Amino acid sequence: MTLATESFPLAFEQRPTASAVEEAKREEILANPGFGKHFTDHMVAIDWTIDDGWHDARVQPYGPLQLDPASSVLHYGQEIFEGLKAYRHADGSVWTFRPDKNAERFQRSARRLALPELSVEDFLESLRQITAADIDWVPSGDDTSLYLRPFMIANESFLGVRAAQKVGYYVIASPAGAYFSGGVKPVSIWLSTQYTRAGRGGTGAAKCGGNYAASLLPQQEAAENGCAQVLFLDAETGAHIEELGGMNIFFVHKDKRIVTPELTGSILEGVTRDSIIQLAEDRGYTVDQRPVTVEDWRRGMESGEITEVFACGTAAVITPIGELKTSEFSIGSADAEPGALTMSLRRELTDIQYGRVDDRHGWLVRLDG
Ligand SMILES: *Cc1c(COP(=O)(O)O)cnc(C)c1O
Repeated sequence: MTLATESFPLAFEQRPTASAVEEAKREEILANPGFGKHFTDHMVAIDWTIDDGWHDARVQPYGPLQLDPASSVLHYGQEIFEGLKAYRHADGSVWTFRPDKNAERFQRSARRLALPELSVEDFLESLRQITAADIDWVPSGDDTSLYLRPFMIANESFLGVRAAQKVGYYVIASPAGAYFSGGVKPVSIWLSTQYTRAGRGGTGAAKCGGNYAASLLPQQEAAENGCAQVLFLDAETGAHIEELGGMNIFFVHKDKRIVTPELTGSILEGVTRDSIIQLAEDRGYTVDQRPVTVEDWRRGMESGEITEVFACGTAAVITPIGELKTSEFSIGSADAEPGALTMSLRRELTDIQYGRVDDRHGWLVRLDG
């Protein structure tokens, strides 16, 4: 691979839109943004070819991509993505949370999907560029944010099966409302026994679209059974709990202990997961990363050893889990109250993200100014 002509770090050309959404319309959207429905005026784009490396970094008007129908992403799914948020603080400044973690994970995902790596520095700069261009799109309401979606696709027109030699990196941004608008409520989750999300040596640890495509059918099964999310077991033994379709899982035990499935290579390493482990340890909890079975969960609930269960990820932060449903039995109860530690960790994490408490771990990175 030739990287010689690549300049480092990349300089971004500005190509501002001539048709930004009108202020009144934007304010209307920001008052009730929902999730992933509305997009800002601009996007970041960077091209990569095997001969020229990364080049033509730019901020351009948001709009459809032109893709040749033979583009490899459309046939072989060579795609990765990230998800993180820009938070507006009370003084108007805009920050994001541990973006270096996302940048590094994006590099690991790229390696697994045989895509070129983008430097951490260029990834971070792309976040600053989109945020600066669309700063007025960062909402300021409670628990609102501007969701940033970096992604990379193989866009070489070639049907041969090999890593593409032409790739595009993009960042789009979408204002996001409070995930739980009517207060945080425990969800019921469905245990998928027929389908798995990832196998040994597969792409489970990479954030790639294909993993999500594979989780949609089990997700439908969950919905048919009245559940908000699906829980996956490991493919090898079918005994160990891995994670939800897009969130990691934690078990709060009595006596200041917390358990979460250990990273096996088929579990996605969440930034929220890592942050919760740190915050719990700061509070004097012992955090065990080890295999957990459904039987452990059932027995732990019966004996009172497990007191709370929650899921976590960037979009919802922390979601209490009230109940696990399976085709044969259920654990817990759908109308349980959210656990005290669950809610307290949720509060602490969001307090850090929104600048309401001291950022003692230096997790925040300023995106404006
Ligand atoms: C993104 C993702 C998570 C959560 O990761 P965060 O970095 O905490 O947002 C968990 N599981 C899967 C499968 C994911 O794709």
